[in-house]
Amino acid sequence: MVADNLIQQAESHILHTYNRFPVVLDHGEGVYLFDIEGNKYLDFAAGIAVQALGYGDQEYNQALKAQIDKLMHTSNLYYNQPTIEAAEKLCAASGLERAFFTNSGTEAVEGAIKAAKKYAYDRDGCTDHEIIAMNHSFHGRSLGALAVTGNSHYREPFEPLPGIVRFADYNDLDSVASLVNEKTCAIILETIQGEGGVFPAEEGFLKGIRKICDENDILLILDEIQCGMGRTGTMFAWQGYDVKPDIMTCAKALGCGVAVGAFVLTERVASSSLKPGDHGTTYGGNPFAGAAVSKVFDIFQRRKLTEHVQEVGNYLQERLEQVKSQLACIHARRGRGLMQGLELSMSAAEVSSKALAQGLLVIPAGSNVLRFVPPLVIEREHVDEMIEKLNRALKD
Ligand SMILES: *Cc1c(COP(=O)(O)O)cnc(C)c1O
Repeated sequence: MVADNLIQQAESHILHTYNRFPVVLDHGEGVYLFDIEGNKYLDFAAGIAVQALGYGDQEYNQALKAQIDKLMHTSNLYYNQPTIEAAEKLCAASGLERAFFTNSGTEAVEGAIKAAKKYAYDRDGCTDHEIIAMNHSFHGRSLGALAVTGNSHYREPFEPLPGIVRFADYNDLDSVASLVNEKTCAIILETIQGEGGVFPAEEGFLKGIRKICDENDILLILDEIQCGMGRTGTMFAWQGYDVKPDIMTCAKALGCGVAVGAFVLTERVASSSLKPGDHGTTYGGNPFAGAAVSKVFDIFQRRKLTEHVQEVGNYLQERLEQVKSQLACIHARRGRGLMQGLELSMSAAEVSSKALAQGLLVIPAGSNVLRFVPPLVIEREHVDEMIEKLNRALKD
């Protein structure tokens, strides 16, 4: 009743750009969420791979409360300590040298593209450079990020989009190589495609792209917004491939619930691209966001979360393989660590709705892939509980 009224209110005042699940969430506890009617849900969506620490982590919450009382915003005209520490930790974790904080993933991608274009402009003195992106990629909804998003349904109504972008097939090195020319300034891809249906890059593909970039002074931009921050068992997914990007984007779990993103560059690219006046943000990297990022890195390190993900991720993978072998409606399992997908012979949205009725939050990735991106702090028992609920939803 209460929920119905709220949903009606929402649908009369909030722009209808989402077909939402019909629940009003109220609070969270560990890896569970509760709606305003008191129903409990096991959360394998994590607010789309954001809530890596789950809900109600006292250490994280206390750090943010303390920062609210101290200082939330300064603008980037001044320095602030939490964000300096956050940048230091982000650079240490990635082995990259310079970070720029944004408020979202799409802004991180915008910044990465601008850095690549500026690098090429400073080198060549012209602006007609091209970017290679991937089919079925997702990089965000703002115009620059949309321009490199390989989903024509998202792009078409908003064309012409900025820049000259050519689309290659993911995991097909020849298709990338065939698009390279003297105007190519950057290749952008997700290390593991998320929205496109959970497709990990093959090692040969990623290494091949790195080689193409090295040979042609092309910048490799890896979008780690979804697959980064420990989700695949290494802090960043590319660290599991022995390939290093020139620019990396991150967001989602970077703040574990606080809106923050970043693009991070090697010193080489940083020192020959964006200069004072070339880029900026009012909110980005404010002390509140900085305190969140800084605390997130502390917690990840002290609790050895990447090791935990390797362990519980293997278990999740095993259990999903089991389900797959038992049910003909599941065609494939893909993914790494705690970023997994099941390709179904039916609508993933429909299965997600059935799962919701069983008290399980899972989300689609594309039309027929069911995506599992739980908080990184889940335990085996939560995987078992999820599998039980998933089985009931699938058989329903
Ligand atoms: C979510 C996502 C984005 C966009 O992030 P927003 O914070 O929604 O702007 C970009 N790239 C990838 C890979 C994503 O998963």
